Amino acid sequence: MNKAIVLLSGGMDSSTALSIAIKEGFECYALTLDYGQRHRDEINSAKNIVKDFKITEHKLVSIDLTVFGGSALTDKNIKVPEQASSGIPITYVPARNTIFFSLALAWAEVIEADAIFSGVNAIDYSGYPDCRPEYISAIQELFNLATKITSEGKSIEVCAPLINMDKKEIIKIGIENGVDFSKTVSCYQLDQHGKSCGLCDSCRIRSKAFEELNLEDNIEYV
Ligand SMILES: [Zn+2]
Repeated sequence: MNKAIVLLSGGMDSSTALSIAIKEGFECYALTLDYGQRHRDEINSAKNIVKDFKITEHKLVSIDLTVFGGSALTDKNIKVPEQASSGIPITYVPARNTIFFSLALAWAEVIEADAIFSGVNAIDYSGYPDCRPEYISAIQELFNLATKITSEGKSIEVCAPLINMDKKEIIKIGIENGVDFSKTVSCYQLDQHGKSCGLCDSCRIRSKAFEELNLEDNIEYV
């Protein structure tokens, strides 16, 4: 059985990416990063999501990106925007996906994984540079060069199955594959009771997609 590392944040996209990896027959190893994000519900969501799928191992790795800050998600003094804005929003975390891919690659090399799955997508997203198809191609090139096992001929494929999907397609495929979206969290700034703000980019993109599909989204908004 081929092995895959799945980067699992606890959000809708990575949960759907996990369901796709399972469906494609991979033996899955989930990797969740505790990077100092604003709330820990995401991490609890990841723990709950893996219970619904057959996962060989789930690792939680802490890497404190608040030491750099520079994002509304890693610096509590920067406010999460509650309206659509132009350009790359302040919720962009500097080099986050590159850091995550590097950590996934380290584990992949140890277990000789065949693939690394990520839920990045370039359609309904906030314009982050590390979610673009050309970024994924560059990461693949890096993987081919970066490790002992790939330099000896083994391939580790970067799989971004959602890259060209919009949020509605992601929801449809996730449901088909058994993702319980009520366990996922999208809000950048949950309140102390775990309720979503309904105002941040992530909440707005999520609720619009559920609305357009005429589906009930069983998460609580403030
Ligand atoms: Zn929100």
